[in-house]
Amino acid sequence: MSGTTIMLTDELQDYFHQVSLRETAILKELREETYANTNSPGMQIAPEQGQFMQMLVKLIGAKRVIEVGVFTGYSSLSVALAMPEDGEILACDVNPDTTAVARRYWEKAGVAHKIRLQIGPATETLQQLLEGKLIDGNQAGSFDIAFIDADKSNYATYVDLCYQLVRQGGLLIVDNVLWHGAVIDPARQDEDTIAIRTLNSALQRDERFDLSLVPIGDGMTLLRKR
Ligand code: SAM
Ligand code: CA
Repeated sequence: MSGTTIMLTDELQDYFHQVSLRETAILKELREETYANTNSPGMQIAPEQGQFMQMLVKLIGAKRVIEVGVFTGYSSLSVALAMPEDGEILACDVNPDTTAVARRYWEKAGVAHKIRLQIGPATETLQQLLEGKLIDGNQAGSFDIAFIDADKSNYATYVDLCYQLVRQGGLLIVDNVLWHGAVIDPARQDEDTIAIRTLNSALQRDERFDLSLVPIGDGMTLLRKR
């Protein structure tokens, strides 16, 4: 059937991975360690998403990236590996334990010098960037990409703050926009599901961005700042 996005059976998902994944040994090690040692390994992005983000970094020549939601570091490590030596990632998370794993892998992969980890609620960190309190000077319009993958109830706030921080032509990447299918389940009325549903509807009409919802992983919306 044409005109729709193909449904991936398990076998087709395997084939997709077999013929396209280029996951390096260090990323594979981090993915496996996260699955073996953490309570919620499903929080980690899928390897094809990491590879897709590397492609986006290279396509737009990103040198400054914000990450909202680090966990054990799979997405930040993917992005850092694709960035030039003078690339910078400002990585935000509240959890010192999971981000200690991330730090260990950034160091092992030789990209730790590209990543600044800021522990604390991301709304505060992003606000501080805009007020010139974290890095000298107001950082508005100075980032190329913002990846949003933390607490879902704050997604709309993250989009607004990252809109200010990203340059014109820069990219916001919003993860989990299909929320494992819960977005279309009327029985799901929890705060996170409602937040994602509400944001998806608002973004469709949001004239600040060009938009594409890419059904990779749990769904990623790409927003290009106009
Ligand atoms: N991008 C990560 C990866 O590829 O492995 C996954 C991120 S995980 C889905 C969400 C993360 O957001 C968790 O590590 C959690 O500690 C963090 N988080 C939750 N609330 C937050 C907040 N208010 N500010 C910053 N980070 C937060
Ligand atoms: Ca996610």
